[in-house]
Amino acid sequence: ATMPPLLSAIANAGRHGVLAKSAVVMERLAQVDAVALDKTGTLTEGTPRVTALRPLPGSGLDEDALLALAAAAEHPSEHPLARAITAAARERGLVLADATAFSSAPGTGVTATVKGQEIRVGAPARLLPDDDPTELEKEGHTVVVVLRDGDPVGYLGLADRPRPGAAATVAALTAHTGRPPVLLTGDNAPAARRLADEVGITEVRAGLLPQDKAAAVREWESAGRKVLLVGDGVNDAPALAAAHTGVAMGRAGSDLALETADAVVVRDELATLPAVLHLARRARRLVI
Ligand code: ADP
Ligand code: MG
Repeated sequence: ATMPPLLSAIANAGRHGVLAKSAVVMERLAQVDAVALDKTGTLTEGTPRVTALRPLPGSGLDEDALLALAAAAEHPSEHPLARAITAAARERGLVLADATAFSSAPGTGVTATVKGQEIRVGAPARLLPDDDPTELEKEGHTVVVVLRDGDPVGYLGLADRPRPGAAATVAALTAHTGRPPVLLTGDNAPAARRLADEVGITEVRAGLLPQDKAAAVREWESAGRKVLLVGDGVNDAPALAAAHTGVAMGRAGSDLALETADAVVVRDELATLPAVLHLARRARRLVI
């Protein structure tokens, strides 16, 4: 009780599972008047599941062969979509070939050599030059395309659930800042729209690369807003750095996101954020 107000605010935030890196962060959280949320792993649970397998005619692949190829290339990746794809292959008892020369591009996908062939798995909008939205995309699936030596051989559909209480958190953040949070995502627009509708978000920016997320944040900042950005991925790091205040999801968050953020939601409980914003404001009133 004898603690200075800012320190007790940090301690209180800690009790809510939000770890602020310094007292200055509480002051910045108190100023926040706009919120931008990443989709996968932040607003959603981040444990998507494979919901559709569509080998292309002429690829010579059936569903299992397509999944095995994608999973082999994704095996080294920590991305939530990669984990979903390898888990689906495991569930079907598929044996994965070794992958070499693995690389990943945030917001785009992965590349690896599998059985002497170059396999790429990722966003159709990034990997296919003139991509028309597939039926899977129009239905609101997250969709990745699989390329073998440059040629598309099939599509995978994936779906993720909103975190429990996501709609209530969005409502509380709306009440706190006076405007609904905005959804920023690298995923396709229909999938983003579908999730936004489920949780009460109106403004969506989809198909974004990491630098696009940062540009959107800078756009709002230069319009005078003090943006709280919440994210979890490597792809969120530039936006976390650009925002007035960056908060990372702690449990599934990438190391880069954790390093870049000003505060960390330790147990991934997005629902604690509105309370922490409130107590940051209250502490400021006590200090001033
Ligand atoms: P979000 O902004 O929702 O967190 P990301 O920026 O991580 O999403 O990913 C955006 C899109 O890039 C995904 O929907 C997917 O199409 C593609 N992508 C990124 N990483 C991978 C990966 N490891 N495997 C397949 N696709 C990927
Ligand atoms: Mg994410």
